[in-house]
Amino acid sequence: MKAWFLCDNCGKRQKLETGTVMVLEKKDAHEHEFLFGEEIKCRHCGKERIAPTPFETMRFLFKPLLEKMINKKESEIFFVNEETIIEETKRIKWKEATAYFEKKLEENPNDWVTLLRYGNTLQRNGHVNKALGVYEKVKQLNPNCVSPYVNLGNIFSHRVKEYGEKQFKEAAIENLSKAEELLFNKKGDMQTINDYDACLSEVVNNLSGLLKRNIFYEPVPLDELNGPLLEIVNPSKKMVPIHDMNEYKTIFFSIEKPVFDYWKQNSETTDETIIKNLESLKQGFDNPQNELGEQIKRSIKTTILLNKDKKEYSYGDIMSCIVRLKNLAKHHESFDGIGYLKWLERFFEGTIPQTPEEIEEYIKKEEIGHEITTKRGAQ
Ligand SMILES: [Zn+2]
Repeated sequence: MKAWFLCDNCGKRQKLETGTVMVLEKKDAHEHEFLFGEEIKCRHCGKERIAPTPFETMRFLFKPLLEKMINKKESEIFFVNEETIIEETKRIKWKEATAYFEKKLEENPNDWVTLLRYGNTLQRNGHVNKALGVYEKVKQLNPNCVSPYVNLGNIFSHRVKEYGEKQFKEAAIENLSKAEELLFNKKGDMQTINDYDACLSEVVNNLSGLLKRNIFYEPVPLDELNGPLLEIVNPSKKMVPIHDMNEYKTIFFSIEKPVFDYWKQNSETTDETIIKNLESLKQGFDNPQNELGEQIKRSIKTTILLNKDKKEYSYGDIMSCIVRLKNLAKHHESFDGIGYLKWLERFFEGTIPQTPEEIEEYIKKEEIGHEITTKRGAQ
């Protein structure tokens, strides 16, 4: 949400994006303190942790009550006790949590889980610059931990969007891409990520904003995702001719993205691996033979569920797309057995040859002596 802030250094009033607003209720007085999900600093002089205007503080206190009265589901403003649960049963004041972790880290400075929680506490308390260094250290200690990539990516992308600090764009993309990859493959350590779907959706949508790509993610119900394909598509098994791949580009993308990511992580993958997997999905979609098949299956079903209000796919549509890609992979024969995968790499890099001349030159260079009749337009 947007709220008005007043800089106590340069005196300028400004409207800033707050993220979720945590209202700390204090035991003794009517006093409240506010902790924001997003970094709050003066747009004009850069002063960190500037305060909301008195009017906004009133709004933070009453808005959740009003929203409750009109039955709005969730508020971006929530009240918490001034204490937070720090260990299983131990409570500690939010304000004192950073000191608590600092002490704990003295004993064991390379405990990445404690370090991560320390970073989260710093960030929520508005000490964002300090949190950045802590997250970088967590990345060094455990490169598979998802949280630091998510948090760094979100902090940097917020700086780009809210404060126009373009110098953070590259770092934002780098961290969010890594977070997306780890979340998508469910391979990373998920410490401090409570809601996988909400996290993935934030990462994907933030990254899409930065890359200006047209992919968005809304969480889908897990039971629908885990059920058979026939329950979420039109049951017609009639195969359809695909003249223009653009017509089914979302389905093609949902297959090619996991294929590409899988290849990047498993260097021994060849076109043949992809062809076999697509063939096995054609034979028995609901029971893939291996991990790649499973990832493709989930990706296709997620796409179908996300688009169900916009387009109804039939069983035959999906099988036709699978067969079409399988044939495409077969066409891209090359000396090193990864002609199709290399083509896919160019596609994801955005450097795919477009004109017949460019395609011809590409084939001569990358895939010797093969006639290719398949032409792919930009997706
Ligand atoms: Zn200022």
